[in-house]
Amino acid sequence: MTAIIDTHAHYTDEAFDADREALIASLPEKNVRLALTAGSSMKSSAEAVALAHRWPHIYAAVGVHPGELDDVTEENFGQLRLWAADDKVVAIGELGLDYHYEDGFPHEQQMYWLEKQLKLANELDMPIIFHDRDAHGDTLDILRQYRPKGVVHCFSGSAEMAEEVVRLGMYVGLGGAVTFKNAKKPLAVAAVVPADRLVLETDCPYMAPVPHRGHRNDSSLIIHIAEVLAAVRGVSVEDLLAQTSQNALQLFPKMKKGQG
Ligand SMILES: [Zn+2]
Repeated sequence: MTAIIDTHAHYTDEAFDADREALIASLPEKNVRLALTAGSSMKSSAEAVALAHRWPHIYAAVGVHPGELDDVTEENFGQLRLWAADDKVVAIGELGLDYHYEDGFPHEQQMYWLEKQLKLANELDMPIIFHDRDAHGDTLDILRQYRPKGVVHCFSGSAEMAEEVVRLGMYVGLGGAVTFKNAKKPLAVAAVVPADRLVLETDCPYMAPVPHRGHRNDSSLIIHIAEVLAAVRGVSVEDLLAQTSQNALQLFPKMKKGQG
């Protein structure tokens, strides 16, 4: 079986505190070849970099999520640039827009830190990992304006939006949502994304696929996502894994180092 690459996980999350190192150690024997652990605040970005240094099969992304803007400041923002130079740091993210929560950060504040990170990523020629929740219009506007390289992760827009994201040169990340009952929209997206622009992700510990829904997620459960996507796209699971793994290495070229 072709090995799995998980393009979006959060192994620094407290849900892994009890068994983090043992779980990560067990991933290769569960057919997981590589996993990207994404920072979402300055604190978790620092932890992601440290974790990636402890494990050859873990890579990191550094950035601030629109729902976690508490610890980023004008003073410490420059740390992202220093981390980005690290061999194990392959992307800036996750960054983006989240308009889901009424008591979330003001949209102007989200946009401010998003634009700073997009400028940094473009300047460093690094891919980004974009989080878009209930902010599809502004997401497309900002992607059109900045034209970053990267992926819209946990993609929740329409099939039409997915086609536009692909036209803009980006990848589409799909995860557990495609396995949920009533997964009409994610399945429509799964059907239209070109084979060379689709990547798999867990977003673990969140978003566990059926039949593990409601429990803690981890990268090995990506097989359930691959099975649904292979069925929708009319390809074998083996081919889907081979293609999406190849895509992940195109999307995050620094992951190719040391992968023979
Ligand atoms: Zn995430």
